[in-house]
Amino acid sequence: MSGNQKSARIQEVESRFNELFGHPPTILVRAPGRVNLIGEHTDYNDGFVFPAAIEREVLMAASLRSDDEIRTYALNFNQPSNFSLKDIQPAQEGRERWSNYIRAMASILQSEQVPLRGINLAVLGDVPLGSGLSSSAAMLVAAGLAFTASTETTIDPVKRALLAQRAEREFVGVNVGIMDMFISALGQANHALLIDTRSLEFEAVPMPATGVSIVIADTNKKRGLVDSEYNQRRAQCEDAVTILKNVLPDIRALRDVSLEDFERFGSLLPEIVRKRARHVITEDVRTLESVEALKRGYITRFGILMNESHESLRNDYEVSCSELDSLVEAARSVDGVYGSRMTGAGFGGCTVSLVADEAVESFRETVPNLFKTATGLNAKITITTAAPGAERLL
Ligand code: ADP
Ligand code: MG
Repeated sequence: MSGNQKSARIQEVESRFNELFGHPPTILVRAPGRVNLIGEHTDYNDGFVFPAAIEREVLMAASLRSDDEIRTYALNFNQPSNFSLKDIQPAQEGRERWSNYIRAMASILQSEQVPLRGINLAVLGDVPLGSGLSSSAAMLVAAGLAFTASTETTIDPVKRALLAQRAEREFVGVNVGIMDMFISALGQANHALLIDTRSLEFEAVPMPATGVSIVIADTNKKRGLVDSEYNQRRAQCEDAVTILKNVLPDIRALRDVSLEDFERFGSLLPEIVRKRARHVITEDVRTLESVEALKRGYITRFGILMNESHESLRNDYEVSCSELDSLVEAARSVDGVYGSRMTGAGFGGCTVSLVADEAVESFRETVPNLFKTATGLNAKITITTAAPGAERLL
């Protein structure tokens, strides 16, 4: 997003807030969506992920109230939803479900004894909903910032991310990993974050200063089977750990199994479980290697590892689908594309490609056409740099 478009969106949320509540906001916060460059389905195996925040974000404008009421309004849906801090319940009505992310954060902060007070709050976002770019994490992290800003409370950003994860797990009821909230809260401009999802140690790794763009392509395929398949993959990873513990008693998760150990003992695993474990173990290796490559400026190598990640997700983890495969194939046919892979949980959603700047136009022109011919679907292309993490703007 250019600077102009960005200030236009800030102006929009501020002026709509003014119309709704009769005064200008005194608080303005933003939290970005994210894209994972490599390290897929590793987070619930205590492994490594390498996401970047994107130039799509949720903005929240707010002002203080003198009571315990939270008056919220989703500008994208023209939909109000109100609740009291004295009794925070999930919204039952479908039209107000979006407010559950805000209710969830208020409820979790309250359970942590963080002081809260009543606020008016308007939400405006441009992270596509349900495309796997984590608009939900952006909602949670932005809401957390808005609430703490209203009482001038400071919370360490890692703690913020953990509270947002708890909010989605305990209040919204989705068993999410830590990656999405972590990168939304801690992202840095022009950097991707290597995150150790066990220790939560992280390292900001610079993206190439010039010459390379992150290109996200949305299949626009509705994700169907995700939940049941996701739970099945988690269970298969746990099965692998249980069996491998017989010969590797110190392991706690697949993260602890080296490639050498896997080559030695992998034959103990039933075939499907072996394939799932092979994806996770090789993906951790690829993720660490890709970060080293990026630090040395070996973009070509980084791209090859992205491609290998896709192959592993398709063949061993079996979470790709024909639409994602077509989109990846179309992207790779464009000169100047270093690498392309599915990103997110799979079965639909988006691909991420690393593209030489001079090839971005031809990517934009060619890839949707090839994809349309192959699948009949319209791909949506988003070009982004690595954006800064959540912050208070006012
Ligand atoms: P994803 O995180 O992949 O985008 P989710 O299903 O986890 O998909 O979260 C999407 C939900 O987040 C939406 O259905 C809506 O409830 C909420 N949401 C996201 N952006 C906004 C927004 N700008 N305004 C209101 N609610 C939003
Ligand atoms: Mg989500």
